[in-house]
Amino acid sequence: MSPLTSIQSRLGSVRQSLPDGVGLVAVSKFHPVEALREAREAGQRLFGESRVQELAAKVEALGAEDYCWHFIGHLQTNKVRQLLRLRPALIESVDSLRLLEEIDREAARQGVVQNVLMQLHVAREETKFGFTPEELLGWFGERGFESLQAVHICGVMGMASNTDDRDRVEADFRAIRDVYDRILAMCPDLRGFSTVSMGMSDDYPLAVSCGSTLVRVGSAIFGPREY
Ligand SMILES: *Cc1c(COP(=O)(O)O)cnc(C)c1O
Repeated sequence: MSPLTSIQSRLGSVRQSLPDGVGLVAVSKFHPVEALREAREAGQRLFGESRVQELAAKVEALGAEDYCWHFIGHLQTNKVRQLLRLRPALIESVDSLRLLEEIDREAARQGVVQNVLMQLHVAREETKFGFTPEELLGWFGERGFESLQAVHICGVMGMASNTDDRDRVEADFRAIRDVYDRILAMCPDLRGFSTVSMGMSDDYPLAVSCGSTLVRVGSAIFGPREY
C-alpha cells in the first residue's frame, strides 16, 4: 500500500470526528483534479463545487459515475441548463424562488427530477444569499412546493456569520435547525425532507452539535485555496 497523502490523512481525521448519520461533502473548489483523485482513493465519493464552469471541467476529467457532485455556490438562472446537464446529485444553494422555478422548468425539460436544498440567510453579513427564515416559513406555510413539477426539496442549507464569536455562530446554526424543524412540523407530509446542511472547516463540530446532518468541508481537507 502506498503511504497516505496529507489529503488522505486530513480526510481521515475529519471523517473520524463526524458521528454516524452526518454526511461529508468534500469541498474541492479551486483545487486540481489530482487532489480529488487522492480523496477518492481514500474512499470519499461526494464533492462540492461552487462554479458551473469548474464543475463541468471536473466532471469531464473524473466522470459522473465514480464521483457524486453537489453544487454549493450562487447559481445564475442563465447557468441552470448547463448545470443540470451535469446531473448534480444535489443543488444545495437555491436562494430565490426565481431560481427554483427555473430549475423546475429546466429539469422537466430534461426529463429529470432535481434534488435541491433551500438556502437560508441567517448570518449578519449583507452580502450572503438566501431566504430569510420568515420568507421560507411563509412559502412552506402556503405549500409553495406543491406547484413544482420536477424538483424535490430535500432540506435546507445555511452558513453561520463569519466571526470568531462562537455564541453568534452557535445562534446562527440553531436558527437554521429551528427553521428546518418548524417546516417539518408544518408540513409533516413532506417526503425526504431530511437534510440540514451546515458547517464548514472552522465550525463543523459546532454545527453538528446544533443538528447538522451534512457538513461541507474544504480547506480542512485540501488545504488553503489559491484564488
Ligand atoms: C467554500 C465553501 C465551503 C467550504 O469552506 P471551507 O472553509 O474551506 O471548509 C462550504 N460551503 C460553501 C457554500 C462554500 O462556498
